[in-house]
Amino acid sequence: MARFTLPRDIYFGEHAIEELKNLKGHKKAMIITGGSSMKRGGFLQKTEQVLKDNGMEVQLFEGVEPDPSIETVFKGAEAMRAFNPDVIVAIGGGSPIDAAKAMWVFYEYPEKTFDDIKDPFTMPKLRQKAIFVAIPSTSGTASEVTAFSVITDYSTDIKYPLADFEITPDIAILDTDIPLTMPKKLTAHTGMDALTHAIEAYVATARSDFSDPLALKAISDIYDSLVDSYNGDKDARGKMHIAQCLAGMAFSNALLGIAHSLAHKTGAVFHIPHGCCNAILLPYVIQYNSRTCMDRYADIARAIGLPGATDKQLTNALVDSIKELNKKLNIHQTYKENGVTEEVFNAHADAIAKNAVGDPCTASNPRLIDVENMKKVLTCAFTGEDVTF
Ligand code: FE
Repeated sequence: MARFTLPRDIYFGEHAIEELKNLKGHKKAMIITGGSSMKRGGFLQKTEQVLKDNGMEVQLFEGVEPDPSIETVFKGAEAMRAFNPDVIVAIGGGSPIDAAKAMWVFYEYPEKTFDDIKDPFTMPKLRQKAIFVAIPSTSGTASEVTAFSVITDYSTDIKYPLADFEITPDIAILDTDIPLTMPKKLTAHTGMDALTHAIEAYVATARSDFSDPLALKAISDIYDSLVDSYNGDKDARGKMHIAQCLAGMAFSNALLGIAHSLAHKTGAVFHIPHGCCNAILLPYVIQYNSRTCMDRYADIARAIGLPGATDKQLTNALVDSIKELNKKLNIHQTYKENGVTEEVFNAHADAIAKNAVGDPCTASNPRLIDVENMKKVLTCAFTGEDVTF
């Protein structure tokens, strides 16, 4: 499908939350948020105040958990039906924004079930009752601009990766004051998630002339600012907040690849955060995919000024630079060094490889892969050996 969809408006910079004053012609806003971090920083109160000053009635739905459940989604949709908002404002990390997107669907279509919308691009037409505003607090998932939402059914342990341009938010607000409060480790992990989004989007089979420049710009800005952002530099934090959003614009349309397929399936089993899994996997996935798209990786290497006379040398330099970046962010390079024992790895490797092949992200990976090769790539990411097949 040749389509490219983004939010209609993106407000960005310091105090960007105040741009909520531009919402005209709306009466009721429901704010969806997670734990207490947005309240601690005062950002929740500020959001509420700007909406109220704008003449709107405001109601809060708080406490969306990490990896939000179907139950939370239905509870939120029910609260929306009781209050009847014409604006939904999701503020926080990827989890409350993802949850609010799914709540929005069931608010507008109470008769729908998860089964009705779980296949990509099967959602009904939204915006019949409300528009959607997203204000991210972390710099990685880019849910504020993407067509995706991940909801977990804990009764079956199935994660539903919902995908449809209907749930691409209408407005994204990138207030660069918010990520200043992010802890260091979260900054490292979410930053490497964003880098993986951009690099996978640049080589994905659904990439286009629209997504390519966004991906390349995101990659070079992340290389310029992630380490300084990790070390607490204010300007770099702001730059990363924008760069991860550029990466999100690219991958929402170009889709992703097998670093994400494996990250989705290893994260829960090995108890390693999503961004950290991507940081581990990315060099090995580049080595595997380079048989198909070495010229694309060479483009990336040139864009960030890495040395090399041939595509092979440039691709190797890119792999080395990612490992170097991980070192500066104190991320260990293999699953083994991240505490996964041989016993645990061997017990799960076959199932992970099989499930990763079935992950939706595998479909847009530039090089085809079967279960056997998926297990080999995973094994290299466990031991640290180069992928040479
Ligand atoms: Fe990701």
